[in-house]
Amino acid sequence: QELIKKLQETIENIPDFPIPGIQFKDISPIFLNPKLYEEVIEDLTAFSKEKVDVVCGIESRGYLFGIAIAVALEVPFILIRKSGKLPPPVISEKYDLEYGSAIIETREGQIKPGQRVLIHDDLLATGGTTEAAAKLVEKQGAKVAQFSFLTALKGLNGDEKLKKFNAEIYHILE
Ligand code: 5GP
Repeated sequence: QELIKKLQETIENIPDFPIPGIQFKDISPIFLNPKLYEEVIEDLTAFSKEKVDVVCGIESRGYLFGIAIAVALEVPFILIRKSGKLPPPVISEKYDLEYGSAIIETREGQIKPGQRVLIHDDLLATGGTTEAAAKLVEKQGAKVAQFSFLTALKGLNGDEKLKKFNAEIYHILE
């Protein structure tokens, strides 16, 4: 597919960043090409069309595409942020990192019980962040209907971690 090829050529693989042994995928060159950005949004929007009532974007690169998807779908967009950034009242979810733990939050009351939610981020790695986001959504009585990403890191099996939510999973690139 044409979009897959263009994205493969555009996303940069940076070895040994942010630490030795890690290969970082830099999505920022996508924003140098508005036409390509538009195609990405069209593709992700098509996946979610009529399937979700609300889009949740994960800080911070999840916002770059998530809000455009929500506007295209004509549904609300909700920010999932790292702790301490959103004013109270908030709903929180704590999760484990390789070293230590982290907390993500949404404003209380923005996600409504029963809503079908799309959780979007730029990249799926281990799935730890997305899993926490899904728990945060379920805690508020809503249903995770879909997960979408631009790309996933091979070999980390992020998809496996998300299976238990019985939601559709889509990444444009494997
Ligand atoms: P996970 O929780 O799945 O291990 O990590 C996914 C989160 O880390 C996402 O929010 C994603 O933006 C960020 N992330 C991890 N590795 C990379 C990378 O190589 N490139 C980019 N753009 N984001 C990454």
